[in-house]
Amino acid sequence: MQRQWIGRSEGAEVVFTIGDEPLPVFTTRPDTLYGATFLALAPEHPLVARITMPDRADEVATYAATARRMSDIDRAAADRAKTGVFTGATATHPLTGAAVPVWVADYVLPGYGSGAVMGVPAHDGRDLAFARRYGLPVVAVVAQDSYPVPDAGGEWRVASGERPTNHQQPLTSDTAYEGEGVLINSGPYNGLTSAAATEQMTADLAARGLGRAHVAYRFRDWLISRQRYWGAPIPIIHCPACGAVPVPEEQLPVLLPEEVAFAPGEDGRSPLARVADWVNVSCPQCGGPAQRETDTMDGFACSSWYFLRFASPHEAERPFDPAAVRAWLPVDTYVGGAEHAVMHLLYARFWTKVMHDAGLIDFDEPFAQLRNQGMLLSPQDGQKMSKSRGNVVTPDEVVAAHGVDALRTYVLFLGPFDARALWDDRGIVGVDRFLERVWRLAQEFAGLPDGPYNDAFERARHRVIKRVTADMERFRFNTAVAALMEYVNALYAAREQPVAAGQWREAIRTLALLLAPIAPFIAEEMWREALGEAESIHGAAWPVWDEALAAEEQTTIVVQVNGKLRDRLTADAGSDPTTLRQMALASERVRAAVGERPVRDVIVARRVVNVVTA
Ligand SMILES: [Zn+2]
Repeated sequence: MQRQWIGRSEGAEVVFTIGDEPLPVFTTRPDTLYGATFLALAPEHPLVARITMPDRADEVATYAATARRMSDIDRAAADRAKTGVFTGATATHPLTGAAVPVWVADYVLPGYGSGAVMGVPAHDGRDLAFARRYGLPVVAVVAQDSYPVPDAGGEWRVASGERPTNHQQPLTSDTAYEGEGVLINSGPYNGLTSAAATEQMTADLAARGLGRAHVAYRFRDWLISRQRYWGAPIPIIHCPACGAVPVPEEQLPVLLPEEVAFAPGEDGRSPLARVADWVNVSCPQCGGPAQRETDTMDGFACSSWYFLRFASPHEAERPFDPAAVRAWLPVDTYVGGAEHAVMHLLYARFWTKVMHDAGLIDFDEPFAQLRNQGMLLSPQDGQKMSKSRGNVVTPDEVVAAHGVDALRTYVLFLGPFDARALWDDRGIVGVDRFLERVWRLAQEFAGLPDGPYNDAFERARHRVIKRVTADMERFRFNTAVAALMEYVNALYAAREQPVAAGQWREAIRTLALLLAPIAPFIAEEMWREALGEAESIHGAAWPVWDEALAAEEQTTIVVQVNGKLRDRLTADAGSDPTTLRQMALASERVRAAVGERPVRDVIVARRVVNVVTA
């Protein structure tokens, strides 16, 4: 999304001329230069006023005024009709010398390229729509081998004397061919591929001083000032004599005044403008009467670097302590909605890069990884919950009925973190029951009869630590909850036979620790009350597992061929029948016993696999 927003495009700047006036235009497709049948300028382009013919001035001015009232996004919208007005002027084509009409069109934005584009209707859908609307010529200059090119006599003008190309099907008049291919109708460049022609034409233009290779971006200025109270003050003092003077460093930060009427004034200025004793100061340079800047900064100015401040929130002398920032940042994982991608996250990356270039921080990307959370859908209509639709499940009501731990656990259990999930009232009942079972176990384990050390019991504990840890790291909270549910089931089953008391204590301790990030209140209660720990569980270390103990138990599988013992294999105790079947068929001894006979069936019965042949 950011790449698209930034809009980097490689191409060339091609210089047309209007009289003595050079008019550079940016194009990503220099190879289509011979197909340029008009030029379009942004209404804001500085040349517009100078080149417009007197008899067209009113029309052009009216058109430009209308365009200025629209947002860039509206102007560039793909589904909008492409409109424009003719300036009456023509420009000279840099290679053919042809006169090309110059139009003003609001779909051309002043910030992109030079605010001027060449219209190549045959090879650009937007230009074609414009040409159709205003009856401008369409000249095809790129043909793809398998692609039909316009035939003479159709609507498409094909210059005579060019070498023939394949003309099997006529192009429909509302389709532009935007791909690359081989040049036609392009004078000395005919027969070159698009890539070769781009290189050759760019070089030829450069040699004549009429063009150069160029990279364009869709970047625009970021206007950070706002006319409202809440925002970081802009540390500038306006002096009638000295102009805009920065507030001296020792007077920073500029704090907002506290006695303010927040309501906007009639003059459209910030509420700060009315706080006379804050606004009126003396100029730091000449000491004369001056005024503070009363606009404040956009919220993005703060959200672009607040995370640096988090590393040393009590730092009083500087915005942040560089040593603390070096130790803690960049941010490992950023969790946020996709809607931030081309707003907050783009600004934050930009700001971070500027600070890096200025030598203030030693990293140039603020966030190592981004995770977008999924959306909870309403049980009523399967739609996004919204107040206006009245389909919202209110957390407070769920908390009142089931408790906050059940709500949290259920939200994590609902589905993959980044997926949409449907809220289901029955689902939370199941989670509720799970937490009750955890709670009961924590109350009862101390009273269970002591027994011998149980190896399987210990292995299950190591396995659940390993699973939950791996799931947490991968943001698979739903499967982490599922692993804990399985573990609790295993613990309930283990109550039937005595297990060493120390093992039970470790099991409940582990359960509480793994549950702590998911159901923090119940986990804390288990930790302090049932386990008698003195400090909070939320400061305790995450449990560790022993790789050998966490490994699946191994078991011996007997393999028969037509009922006769042929091999013994070692497999994971939890292996599924498909795995065992594959292992049996892969055994050398089994293959020798089977020989050329076709295998008719493979029967898996617990630890015995029987291969049946014809
Ligand atoms: Zn001054």
